[in-house]
Amino acid sequence: MNEMILLKLGEVVLKGLNRRTFEDKLLANIRRRLQHCGDFHVYSKQSTVYVEPKGPECDLDGAFAACRQVFGVIAVTRALPCPKDKDAIFHCARNYLDKELREAKTFKVETRRSDKHFPMNSMEISQYVGGLLHDAYPHLKVDVHAPELCVHVEVREKAAYVHAPSQPGAGGLPTGMGGTAVSLLSGGIDSPVACHMIAKRGVKLELVHFYSPPYTSVQAKEKVVALAKLLAPWCGRMKLHVVPFTEIQEAIRANCPEDHFTLIMRRFMMRLAQGVAARTGAKALVTGESLGQVASQTMDALTVSDQVCTMPVLRPVIGMDKAEIVRLARQIGTFETSILPYEDCCTVFTPRHPRTHPVLADVLEYEKALDIDGLVERALAGVERITISV
Ligand code: ATP
Ligand code: MG
Repeated sequence: MNEMILLKLGEVVLKGLNRRTFEDKLLANIRRRLQHCGDFHVYSKQSTVYVEPKGPECDLDGAFAACRQVFGVIAVTRALPCPKDKDAIFHCARNYLDKELREAKTFKVETRRSDKHFPMNSMEISQYVGGLLHDAYPHLKVDVHAPELCVHVEVREKAAYVHAPSQPGAGGLPTGMGGTAVSLLSGGIDSPVACHMIAKRGVKLELVHFYSPPYTSVQAKEKVVALAKLLAPWCGRMKLHVVPFTEIQEAIRANCPEDHFTLIMRRFMMRLAQGVAARTGAKALVTGESLGQVASQTMDALTVSDQVCTMPVLRPVIGMDKAEIVRLARQIGTFETSILPYEDCCTVFTPRHPRTHPVLADVLEYEKALDIDGLVERALAGVERITISV
């Protein structure tokens, strides 16, 4: 029998009547993510997904890494199956975990038996296998509370499985179960984290990026493509809609008071993101705004930008400190790319003294100087769509 991967389902198991749909979605997502690692048999039984390589050419390391980034899975482990026989289980544990058993000072065996026909109960299996392992590795001491190594034995329907402790999975719900949202992706630290948090709740994302050539460089756009590529192993294949924003920013600069530049610009971003949503069937917007972080993220400023929105705006990092957002950015692997020093369209026309407590009536008055519909229409007509594959 060949080494394989076991995945434990997360919140999916709490879904009552919908559970089958959630599980099917999860299995389809896992199969798609494993395509570049070879041919695997992927199926689920009793809250566990089995990922079995069909041949020796399969890339098990790659598959393991990919599985850790699939939403809907809370734990991932490599395991070796063996026949359902107490001595076969002992030999399997000894061969498979020999290195770990030699390196550890303390250990225990923990057994789960979902096949209730197996003649020994979990405790008896643990004691039997633990006793033989203790004889084979006399330096080991048993520690049932905090062992350095826990040898896991699972007696399941088709076989018994031996493995070391699991690694945490990505958690959340399978991508695609929560509908689609348009996520505004800048080159910063916050918006990739916001994308990850919303995708984790099962939402498929359409990414939107606004760029303002020649004020923003090709590298700034490439940085956003690089961020999207880092998100794809978590969020699945996505479209990045790159929206030209120069004409809008120049019109605002020419016609509106400087202290309102950012606010009016943000209202355009929301309008354009909704334009993309209308074309893609998305039902919400996502931003990386955090309350009070900058002038355009005060409660009054958010009120002004939300006024143009006809759909919910999801702001998953709204209550988080920068340090907390940075911690998540490091965890999901986007931080190092986010801090590359390229300018964003938000930073090229930054007012010296932005309004932190804007009044909606004033903003509406200033916008009268702009051909809003024409500007939005032309920007949407110039969208470049880039497919970001996993
Ligand atoms: P981030 O670190 O995510 O770039 P920020 O803290 O710099 O955000 P802002 O520049 O005010 O804050 O942007 C707030 C949010 O607006 C971003 O999190 C993002 O969702 C969206 N946004 C800003 N600039 C762009 C852009 N050029 N393209 C797409 N979305 C943008
Ligand atoms: Mg930023």
